[in-house]
Amino acid sequence: MSKPKLVLIGNGMAGVRTLEELLKLAPGKYDITVFGAEPHPNYNRILLSPVLAGEKKLEDIILNDEAWYAEHGITLHKGKKVVAIDRVRRCVRTEDGTEAGYDRLLLATGSAPFILPVPGKDLEGVVGFRDIRDVELMLEASEKHRHAVVIGGGLLGLEAANGLKKRGMDVTVVHLLDTLMERQLDKPAAALLQRALEDSGLDFKLEAQTEALLGEGRVRAVRFKDGSEVPADLVVMAVGIRPNIELAKASGIHCERGILVSDTMQTFDPQVYAVGECVQHRGELFGLVAPLFEQAKVCANHLAEFGIARYEGSVTSTKLKVTGIDLFSAGEYQGGAGCEELLFQDPSRGVYKKLVVRDNKVAGAVLYGDTVDGAWYFQMMRDGTDISAFRENILFGQAHMGDSGHGAESHAARLPEDAEVCGCNGVCKKTIVDAIVQKKLFTLDEVRAHTKASASCGSCTGLVEQILQSTLGSDYSVSPAKKPLCKCTDLTHEEVREAVRIQGLKTIPELMGSLGWRTPDGCHACRPALNYYLLCQWPNEYRDDPQSRFINERVHANIQKDGTYSVVPRIWGGVTNPRELRAIADVAEKFQVPCVKITGGQRIDLLGVPKAQLPAIWAELGKHGLMSGHAYGKSLRTVKTCVGKEWCRFGTQDSTTLGIELEKMTWGSWTPAKVKMAVSGCPRNCAEATIKDFGVVAVDSGWELHVGGNGGVKVRATDFLCKVQTDEEVMEYAAAYMQLYREEARYLERTAHWIERVGLPYLQSRIVDDAAGRRALCARFLESQRKAQIDPWAERAQGAEKHEFEPLTPAERKAHACIA
Ligand SMILES: Cc1cc2nc3c(=O)[nH]c(=O)nc-3n(C[C@H](O)[C@H](O)[C@H](O)COP(=O)(O)OP(=O)(O)OC[C@H]3O[C@@H](n4cnc5c(N)ncnc54)[C@H](O)[C@@H]3O)c2cc1C
Ligand code: SF4
Repeated sequence: MSKPKLVLIGNGMAGVRTLEELLKLAPGKYDITVFGAEPHPNYNRILLSPVLAGEKKLEDIILNDEAWYAEHGITLHKGKKVVAIDRVRRCVRTEDGTEAGYDRLLLATGSAPFILPVPGKDLEGVVGFRDIRDVELMLEASEKHRHAVVIGGGLLGLEAANGLKKRGMDVTVVHLLDTLMERQLDKPAAALLQRALEDSGLDFKLEAQTEALLGEGRVRAVRFKDGSEVPADLVVMAVGIRPNIELAKASGIHCERGILVSDTMQTFDPQVYAVGECVQHRGELFGLVAPLFEQAKVCANHLAEFGIARYEGSVTSTKLKVTGIDLFSAGEYQGGAGCEELLFQDPSRGVYKKLVVRDNKVAGAVLYGDTVDGAWYFQMMRDGTDISAFRENILFGQAHMGDSGHGAESHAARLPEDAEVCGCNGVCKKTIVDAIVQKKLFTLDEVRAHTKASASCGSCTGLVEQILQSTLGSDYSVSPAKKPLCKCTDLTHEEVREAVRIQGLKTIPELMGSLGWRTPDGCHACRPALNYYLLCQWPNEYRDDPQSRFINERVHANIQKDGTYSVVPRIWGGVTNPRELRAIADVAEKFQVPCVKITGGQRIDLLGVPKAQLPAIWAELGKHGLMSGHAYGKSLRTVKTCVGKEWCRFGTQDSTTLGIELEKMTWGSWTPAKVKMAVSGCPRNCAEATIKDFGVVAVDSGWELHVGGNGGVKVRATDFLCKVQTDEEVMEYAAAYMQLYREEARYLERTAHWIERVGLPYLQSRIVDDAAGRRALCARFLESQRKAQIDPWAERAQGAEKHEFEPLTPAERKAHACIA
């Protein structure tokens, strides 16, 4: 018996996705024929922007090559535009007369760029930004001409402008309104975006109305209503899109602004379905892939005759694919009646976050400069989560909902199973984790192939990698493709460090200039890393840049959920005395510190201190010899000790004295991530040395050294490095280990992950087997400590970085004045 015939018009993203979904549900149900006006197989339109910018090649963006069609028995007519649908005879006809009959017809004709109806619009050099042909025209123009004008300051316009700039053109972006991306961004975020793009070399002409395109044959300039002109050899129109509905309309299918469809994606003719940008559903048109892929699922469900799915509309979020710019927007980002706005701004890091809250639920979000929590906010928005329990903390992000010690990996671990990770393809965390576990996937490419997560716009790639890492743990190896340090460069951490060393680069601007950084000031990801790498390489020359540090390190205290800070003085090896305790008690009383807490690292934490009071508290503590415990830093935190043989009847070595010596040697050292140590006086290991970055455990004949342990969400026990006999050896090995970690780990990489990446044998070869190398590492560590061991609290108590601690609000000023 012959199969029913399904014809798809439009070989684009929504149509082919529907076929993919259908093939999953009911393979072989239909004889499928596809007509596509473009002369290419199905490709990822979203990635035209990176192709234009030179970050991807055309062959990289093909989604389904011709072999795929053949494999599924699909007849593909490339480069054939359907010009008529005969709904009585149930057949379609193309320009060249090719005909195909159907039992079911699927329209997925997408949309076309809107071209402003101004004189000169048909001149050579005037293009839209929609398909491969447009990109080819732009690339051709960029090779021969200099001046480009992009009309439209929305998502597409800015991506086109960025690409053309990267291709060496002088680019002016013209926009009718006074802010960019007004459909996704509020004014402060738009201003930050404009500044960043101006810094990258783009010119803007806002509130400008295009009157005519001038030129004979080829465009030469754009003229505006106010009479001014801008030279242009290329004009890209990116002012909006219009659904391609002429074909449907001509065949009598009911259309308004788009082809009208029901919740089952059926048009008014029940044999004819439609998906994608050409449709109008419940009054809405579409311009992003995430909703189209949801439609594709529903449509496939009905084509497979399962008949259960409904498309009821989508909530969407937006990201801009301009390298070096992190931007996220979703929902009611402007706020309005009945809404509250929660704001976080850190101008020096270029970070701006706004959450719009209604009835204690997230109704919208705009994030600029730090978008890592976009997926989390978006999930809460979709779920209607009540945020009242953590609203005062919400803007600090999910990572601050508890200190796990695992950074980004734990962010992924904490995401709920149903959290959407890839917005374009509607892939949730559970789908990714299941695929990793069940199909034994190890690399990003494998996850992309099996789940489609991160296969479209790519903005969730980091999160997918974190999920891989948190699911596989020690089995995870970063895909062999080299991973750039951040979006501002193609260089890896290692390449940057090597360049710093070999080229003798000694400042952040010098480094960025010499290595061709794409952004003049870097971003929140690279600046702290570069600051650290320079500090590590040039301990005697480089001057630390506080503005390139995260807030906790900048103010030398940990910010708490209510915006106050915690003060943790150093208590060497956890051993204190009545004088120090009395001083801490006096300070707590004098400054009315609301909470005094013993920490897990054998110290005392004064919690709830306003920022403006920090220098005064530090001064007071300093008078009694108490200094910073670096509880906030990517540096040595604590050396935990047990009481050891001095007091304990099981103890075989003096763990307390050794712990104090270790702490005196290593305090103040900046490291890629935090470092914790511990020393136990016998194998009972009361100091829990085997979950520390460096753990020392006494045995009868000396000390065992353990490395790479970690507490937190995912506990990792240490690896046994070696056994040594004397305290002096412990000190030398510890210093060498610290320096190797400092010199070779990537910024933010805990020792646990570093060792999993490089392997324990490598560490043993450098620290245990190579005695001369070990001594050299140890010497370099001690040398750098000469500069690093300066108490930051004492400096600030004497007035350094005063601006950081100025009281900001009248209430803070009053509280400060009372104490002072
Ligand atoms: C440069 C660029 C960047 C983008 N970036 C993003 C992004 O970051 N995130 C995001 O979510 N979305 C993005 N989009 C939008 C996204 O690409 C579209 O929403 C999506 O491609 C629409 O899918 P579609 O199948 O409806 O239309 P299309 O993908 O346009 O497919 C329609 C196809 O139908 C063909 N066709 C039309 N009429 C006929 C006919 N009569 N006969 C035969 N074939 C016909 C067309 O030639 C076309 O190939 C971007 C779009 C562009 C252009
Ligand atoms: S580790 Fe050993 S020496 Fe230290 S307190 Fe425990 S039992 Fe005593």
